[in-house]
Amino acid sequence: MSQITDQEIKYLKGVGPKRAELLEKELGLRTCNDLLYFFPYKYIDRSRIYKIEEINTTQTYIQIKGKITHFRLEGQRHKQRLVAVFADDTGKIELVWFQGLQWVTKNYQPDIEYIVFGKPALYNYKLSIAHPEIEIAAKDETLNRSPFQAQYNSTEKLKSNFFTSRAVHKLIGQILSQSPVLEETLPDYLINTLMLISLDKAIRNVHYPESQDMLKRAVYRLKFEELFYIQLSILLQKTRRQAAFKGFVFSRVGDNFNNFYKTRLAFELTGAQKKVIREIRKDLGSGKQMNRLLQGDVGSGKTLVALMAMLIALDNGYQACLMAPTELLANQHFTTISGFLENMGVSVLLLTGSTKRSERENLHEQLRSGRLHILVGTHALLEDSVQFNNLGLVIIDEQHRFGVAQRARLWKKSEQYPHILVMTATPIPRTLAMTLYGDLDVSVIDELPPGRKPIQTIHHYESKRLVLHGFLRNQIKLGRQIYVVYPLIRESEKLDYIALEEGYEAIVRAFPPPEYSVVCVHGQMKSEDKEAAMQYFIRGQAHIMVATTVIEVGVDIPNASVMVIENAERFGLSQLHQLRGRVGRGADQSYCVLMSSYKLSKEARRRIEIMVQTNDGFEIAEADLKLRGPGDIEGTQQSGIPFDLKIANLSQDGQLLQYARDTAMNILEQDVRLEKPENNLLKRLLNKNAKTVIDWSSIS
Ligand code: ADP
Ligand code: MG
Repeated sequence: MSQITDQEIKYLKGVGPKRAELLEKELGLRTCNDLLYFFPYKYIDRSRIYKIEEINTTQTYIQIKGKITHFRLEGQRHKQRLVAVFADDTGKIELVWFQGLQWVTKNYQPDIEYIVFGKPALYNYKLSIAHPEIEIAAKDETLNRSPFQAQYNSTEKLKSNFFTSRAVHKLIGQILSQSPVLEETLPDYLINTLMLISLDKAIRNVHYPESQDMLKRAVYRLKFEELFYIQLSILLQKTRRQAAFKGFVFSRVGDNFNNFYKTRLAFELTGAQKKVIREIRKDLGSGKQMNRLLQGDVGSGKTLVALMAMLIALDNGYQACLMAPTELLANQHFTTISGFLENMGVSVLLLTGSTKRSERENLHEQLRSGRLHILVGTHALLEDSVQFNNLGLVIIDEQHRFGVAQRARLWKKSEQYPHILVMTATPIPRTLAMTLYGDLDVSVIDELPPGRKPIQTIHHYESKRLVLHGFLRNQIKLGRQIYVVYPLIRESEKLDYIALEEGYEAIVRAFPPPEYSVVCVHGQMKSEDKEAAMQYFIRGQAHIMVATTVIEVGVDIPNASVMVIENAERFGLSQLHQLRGRVGRGADQSYCVLMSSYKLSKEARRRIEIMVQTNDGFEIAEADLKLRGPGDIEGTQQSGIPFDLKIANLSQDGQLLQYARDTAMNILEQDVRLEKPENNLLKRLLNKNAKTVIDWSSIS
């Protein structure tokens, strides 16, 4: 059955092919259905009519009722504008047009009572409203019963072709008045048990709300539906993947794990670590391939958890590997892990770009024969010459630095997909993780080991530089080391290097040799020089390291307890948090000092405030999501948000998303192929929307 909603917009009264084309080009709207799902971005309470004497420029949108007294043209040929003086019984205001002047004079006349709607502004010391929406007052009252008027996004091009928000609204009204009841898109049983309103009611009310309450219910229903179908398709793909790839079954927890747990751990695991290890053990024994994301702040003990997971693999006769994004990090992991496993009869080796050839051959041989149990390394692990005997578990640290294809190469090194555990210290808000990494299971370590002193964060303006230097001198006297970090933003790279260099020179002047020693590290240095400077600092021979964000990932120097971030206003929240995570690793009180200029944008100020207020990475990630919207969250830029949300908002609808996910999960648990008659509709609509189904392989 063909419905009016399947028709193209160009056949609607008053549109025509040319304007329809514009609508498609500008907003991607082609069919009537597209228009019905083009939701308002806000509503304006039009129950109130203002008096002209009440108008001031702080108001956003207002409506007034009165008459045009006269028109006049102002300005030269090309900059002509049309002004109408509009009056009610309390005063006068000017209405101004810069475009479509003829159309306006033809369509609006003096002495008819109009409702004028728009945003007042001060222009040439006079109050005016530019390009207002105008309607005949008497007509308006019958046409627009709803006090909440929907507002739609438009573009300049559309507006100049008279596709204002108002016009779009009217078109939608036209479609709705010609449509019979819209076909339902959710099964009855869901509508009943979740007490949702019908699609028909929801669509009509979202565009023309009968009341505030109905508007709320309409938005709820539409958001739920949107999130529900996304989750249903994600979860369906996940179950399909799990059915297609059987996982190795690690049924036992044996000597390696138990000995380690009983004799090697000098401390209790935190509750969060225990919980995550249980989650991992359950996965590994399930017969399904594990695909888990492990999130936790820097220093929360992820590496330890990863190590224990590897021991389970070993206990079941499999090899494990850990891949890190940089050589420095791989080195660090290797040192930590081999330290923990000393004299346990577990063999661990390191493979990076700098591993010598002779060592490599020996390593390859041990790996193939199975005598090597754990391999730690960088991208070098991906080389074809690296062949495992039986790789059962892959740990990937800081995943978003690896490309998808690279990761795929890693898990093809096994006759069957190995289990995968991805660790990241970039906290991703739950809502985002559930959609972005929807087919990964997510574990969270949301607790730091006991005894850590929270890092103190301080914000200083430029003028406090001397105070800062005094503070740094004191810290050095106490035996601590200091990072000073400068931003490096690609577009202004040259200027940034100048700032770094000047900053370095200033620091050296304030902390001169021989009493003090300062090193400088940045991405343009030769890697040997960089490594040498780094090592100098690691060995405690330098007091201060001036650097760009190259130190963001991984460096672990417990004695470095002060992080100074220059031009802090130029960093994003997640990057500030990552940088701060470089300190606070030892027993001493650590500090993070955010230096900024006086001129701060509202958002930059908010970011700095948040940093000063909290150390909690998840809180920061949530705040980041709210400030910037999901498209910009670090770690997601490369993958992007793989779908457009039309009405739901990941930063606000977390609970509803969880609810939608649980609902979808419940349905699939009972009917994984969606074969039951009551799920026919779901199956049909999922297939119909197949083109929007996300290719998750490109993400996890
Ligand atoms: P992450 O990988 O999350 O940054 P690590 O696993 O490197 O964290 O742990 C950071 C430090 O804390 C290491 O020195 C580690 O040995 C120590 N650590 C880990 N778990 C605990 C714990 N439960 N109690 C005390 N110290 C811990
Ligand atoms: Mg770590």
